[in-house]
Amino acid sequence: MSIRSLVVTLAAVVIFAAAPLAQKTTAKPDGKPSAGNAKLEALKREAVADVESRRQFSQQMVDQIFSYGELGFQEFETTRYLTDVLKTNGFAVQEGVAGIPTAFMATWGSGKPVIALGSDIDCIPQASQKPGIALHEPLIEGAPGHGEGHNSGQAVNITAALAVKKIMEREHLPGTLRIWTGTAEELVGSKAYFIRAGLFKDVDIALFTHVDDNLDVSWGPRDGTGLVSVQYSFLGETAHAAQAPWRGRSALDAVELMDIGWQFRREHLRLSQRSHNVITDGGDQPNVVPRTASVWYYFRETDYPHIKELWETGNTMAKAAAMMAGVELQPMKVLGSAWPQHFNKTVAETTWANIQKIGLPPWSDEDQQLAKALQKELKNPRIEGLRTKLRDNLQGPVTENYGGGSDDIGDISWNVPTVTLRFPSNIPNLPGHNWANAISMATPIAHKGVTAGAKVQAMTILDLVMRPELVDQAWKYFREIQTKDTRYEPLIRPQDQPAIWLNKATMEKYRPEMKKYYYDPSRFKTYLDQLGIKYPTVRLNQ
Ligand SMILES: [Zn+2]
Repeated sequence: MSIRSLVVTLAAVVIFAAAPLAQKTTAKPDGKPSAGNAKLEALKREAVADVESRRQFSQQMVDQIFSYGELGFQEFETTRYLTDVLKTNGFAVQEGVAGIPTAFMATWGSGKPVIALGSDIDCIPQASQKPGIALHEPLIEGAPGHGEGHNSGQAVNITAALAVKKIMEREHLPGTLRIWTGTAEELVGSKAYFIRAGLFKDVDIALFTHVDDNLDVSWGPRDGTGLVSVQYSFLGETAHAAQAPWRGRSALDAVELMDIGWQFRREHLRLSQRSHNVITDGGDQPNVVPRTASVWYYFRETDYPHIKELWETGNTMAKAAAMMAGVELQPMKVLGSAWPQHFNKTVAETTWANIQKIGLPPWSDEDQQLAKALQKELKNPRIEGLRTKLRDNLQGPVTENYGGGSDDIGDISWNVPTVTLRFPSNIPNLPGHNWANAISMATPIAHKGVTAGAKVQAMTILDLVMRPELVDQAWKYFREIQTKDTRYEPLIRPQDQPAIWLNKATMEKYRPEMKKYYYDPSRFKTYLDQLGIKYPTVRLNQ
């Protein structure tokens, strides 16, 4: 941190501490002041100051997980580290939940409400990137990296939980805090299994966090999609590809025919669908007719019936392709799934009120310089730097959904009142799933964004612990509005199991080299220090 940003930060703390935090909410919605609310507001101020005092703790967690850079289902270092931190801080940890070795559920406290704080932990293939440098510079060429920013959300939740836990212990407040992992989110691989395993059965409220470029929350049906992730494998027969090709049957032919069929059908699909595939097995070498071949599809749509319909169309293409190629279609593998997201109105409103009190972090000139240099590097039409303004209003239901990404938090959101708190640890207008999205993720931008998010999260937890009527209202919305006409039915089939073998080979290939770059907080204040990176590093002409 520069002297200037330190001064700005300290000034903000002083102003914050001096200002009455919540003049508005010391009155009940009916306008009458309440002693209970005054106490709640005092405790929230205390929690915010406590989160502020844990800046270094949060920074170390963000940097540590960034340096592990683990792909979905292979987050072994990350979960070992997180469970150590949680055990040290008095949480009981259930490891390997739902049959997933890198998933856990940590618990502290007792009684109601049960508040489950979750965030994703996995990273992106080929996104290895040095932080704080506004150009593509991999730490290790070809290796995975946090090109989405999932290294930051656990720090938001854990920092907030520790601040609130301290208060709950002293005040003897009933309530249970759970910390859990969005394991393999990039594969939408775990959360439907958490639901199936009953991990959220006794949970009252799920507070999820996800990195973004602003401090934000929303309610109602969201834009974006749900999806099913399916691998189709075909079995043919090998032959000498030149001497006796008529003796062989190519499994790769079936993959290619399926893909061609899908491209033709695409014209006649709804505009809201998204579908894409990669060939995970395309044969061995050209002179051997491929006996095996596999193709992996994501079928995305905006509601459950349309996801099922799209999936069925995919199955038809696979069967037809197998017939054309004269090969056998093997039993398909479901590798992941996600319901479209729907967030809770009461919890979003509660979170939004806290967001407005905290506001965006004070960015330093260095932070803005990095953001603008990266936007320029990516040839963005507008060079805006980091966000300096919250949205004007809380975002409500999306009525026109043109599709987009997915997150299996959707499955949780259809089983328990849920919101996703988005916090400003990344730079606006980046491509997503890309090295560029990793650049801010172990810099002061990420650290400040996490601290802001943790303050909001701590305040919201206290709201839910001390105002049980909020939990009741949240469930009223969940039962009477959200699930009035829509019932959750899992997309995963009874025979499906978590695809925990995915990414194993890739991590085994890169981990030995990556280990050399694991962050060592006992020797270096920050990961930037350890890597010897001047912050920010930008091209000379910028
Ligand atoms: Zn994500």
